[in-house]
Amino acid sequence: TQADIGLIGLGVMGANLALNIADNGYKVAVFNRTAEKTTAFMENAAHLKDQFIACYSLEELAAAIKAPRPIIMMVKAGEAVDQQIEALKPFLEENDILIDAGNSDYHDSNRRYRALADTPFTFVGMGVSGGAEGARHGPSIMVGASDAAYARIQPILDAISAKHNGEPCSALMGPEGAGHFVKTLHNGIEYADMQMIAEVHEVLTKCLGLSIAEQAAVFKKWNEGPLASYLIEITANVMDVIDEESGKPILDVILDTAGQKGTGRWSAVEAHALGVPATGIDAAVASRCISANRVLRQEIAEIYPNNETPLTWDDKQAGIDACERALIAGKIAAYAEGFAVLAAGGAENGWNLPMGTIARIWRQGCIIRSRFLDEIASAYDEKPDLQSLYLAPTIAERMKDAAPGLRKTLAKAIGSGIPMPGLAAAMGSFDMMRQKRTAAYVIQGQRDFFGQHGFERTDKPGTDFHGPWPAGGA
Ligand code: NDP
Repeated sequence: TQADIGLIGLGVMGANLALNIADNGYKVAVFNRTAEKTTAFMENAAHLKDQFIACYSLEELAAAIKAPRPIIMMVKAGEAVDQQIEALKPFLEENDILIDAGNSDYHDSNRRYRALADTPFTFVGMGVSGGAEGARHGPSIMVGASDAAYARIQPILDAISAKHNGEPCSALMGPEGAGHFVKTLHNGIEYADMQMIAEVHEVLTKCLGLSIAEQAAVFKKWNEGPLASYLIEITANVMDVIDEESGKPILDVILDTAGQKGTGRWSAVEAHALGVPATGIDAAVASRCISANRVLRQEIAEIYPNNETPLTWDDKQAGIDACERALIAGKIAAYAEGFAVLAAGGAENGWNLPMGTIARIWRQGCIIRSRFLDEIASAYDEKPDLQSLYLAPTIAERMKDAAPGLRKTLAKAIGSGIPMPGLAAAMGSFDMMRQKRTAAYVIQGQRDFFGQHGFERTDKPGTDFHGPWPAGGA
């Protein structure tokens, strides 16, 4: 019999996704550019062999799938996707759906969606999160599709996605690149979360003198509270691992240069283009860049050695609790920004993104899954047009409790010379958001002084006032 769906690209993600689809009772026709990978995949999947049809050409692939065909492409993002679409076209028929499940730039998905709208085929841009493990056992899926195309693929996507209390962590975000836009911001928020965790680790080490093994225990405890999340859990797991060669904790031997593939940077760029702050994501992207500049850092470190005496807490537990609150407050700030970027991007593209649903489908399967997302989902359930997460009563209560901990942690860390770009950005952003009057009047004064840009006054209406500047000014 013919397959229910096709899948192109049997790399790490594609192979796992194919197995997941087969586990859920669907027959999958598989194809990979390099034929050996297809053969190897079929050997690995021998126990499920009736669920797969191995194809060695795109023509074979098209013939192996029931029409109208859904075909998932899980190939390298970028040009490979365009090449793949072009190569497939001669073998497609009316109403076939081409699903790009890689980490594509959402602008590319907008373009591909529109280009294919003029053909008999349909394009779907689909963000998949959860790494290899998620792909295998249930990822979080963010779909950008027409309603009609989504209705056709929804049963398979719901089946293969992660579940939160039985609810699929897969949903339609909107048409065009909406799915990839949401996936991009997911990754941006992931960057911010990871950076803030790394910073707190340094405070636990330098200000509280905790060994990595002791920190693993702290993270495990935190994973039972409001911070409960996959990233906190795996940080504890990473901390527990001992390097076989050196006998030291693996973290002691991992080089301190962080890699990045671009989705974090895309989030920051989008935020800037939309004029919405994403200071936590900006700081996380910048921090990875600084970390990668290792050779220069060695030289600068020689001139400015980090010899500040670490500021400690008299009561160790109080210090650990402050660090926990620092992470909670930092998370709230980063998510408040991230969700604001989502809302603005949705409005800019005319998508009306389902904010509550985004929080809901991130509760399982994806890398930023956490208990906190449940609170965000509830906040949007209560008020679907919520302007800012800071305004939600439950989140406000949490922030009021956590912000002093963030402030104390930053004071100790900065006094100790520990770099805190992520958490300091969170504090700065929150502190500015809660000002009735910011210091921006100084900037307006400067702008008018040097450029006659004009300002508004606090004491009367009107937009084009100027200062009585002395000579040299406007
Ligand atoms: P891999 O490197 O494991 O696999 C890449 C796949 O793309 C291979 O099947 C490769 O085929 C194929 N490919 C590359 N270039 C072309 C081309 N020009 N034409 C046709 N096929 C091509 O990558 P992953 O599985 O990790 O990633 C796949 C996609 O999923 C990427 O967009 C990635 O960003 C995204 N993603 C990855 C996640 C992860 O945790 N790894 C998480 C979420 C999304 P060949 O064997 O012939 O080289």
